[in-house]
Amino acid sequence: MTSTATLLYRLQVIDLAMTQRVIRVQAINTLLGSDEQVAKAQQALEAAEQALKPWQARALDLDLEIKTLVQKLKQANDALYSGSIKIPKAMTEAQDEIAALQRRQSQLEDELLEAMMHTDEGQAAVTDARQSLAQTLTTQEMTQERLIAEKTQLETELAALETQRQGAASPIDAASLKTYESLRPRKGGHPVALLRNNSCAACNIEQTSMNVQQVWAGKTLATCGSCGRILASMG
Ligand SMILES: [Zn+2]
Repeated sequence: MTSTATLLYRLQVIDLAMTQRVIRVQAINTLLGSDEQVAKAQQALEAAEQALKPWQARALDLDLEIKTLVQKLKQANDALYSGSIKIPKAMTEAQDEIAALQRRQSQLEDELLEAMMHTDEGQAAVTDARQSLAQTLTTQEMTQERLIAEKTQLETELAALETQRQGAASPIDAASLKTYESLRPRKGGHPVALLRNNSCAACNIEQTSMNVQQVWAGKTLATCGSCGRILASMG
């Protein structure tokens, strides 16, 4: 007849298998609930869009300013060459004004070129960020599918283990089960240790011959003199 300690050891094997799966399911739930990567990619896209905006606005402003300036230049030129200005001083002034407007135009065109360069760079950055976000979303979707499939598998295994556990626990008396359960959290889920070469397999301490006999007799639960675990023979 199988000793209670051995039955508890078999129960422990099932419990350890269950715990391992429960921990993995919890980890999967955490992973499924987190969209950190997507949030990061979204933030990067928003940042790129924000960085682009002022350059687009600047380019528009400059473009408008240049158009107005070109109009003014045309009017000044027309006035100068229409022959309506007769006084030499006034003519010199008109020429100076045209020269000043031309310098201003050249300066604004340089600024516009720079703004357009930044706009191009900014648009490229926005395109990159958009692609990166799309990629992240695809990756997340694939990862989530894989995780959900794994979780389903684990839950199936857990249900089977639960059934096994009920079968494994049913021949064990209530008092022994209670001892096992109370030791479980304190021994990191390993309340039962095998007796190997007359030593506790968990802590490697050699047991007294009385303890060894008690384990082999299997009538009462023997505990390791050192770590306090229930000692079981493989029998
Ligand atoms: Zn021990």
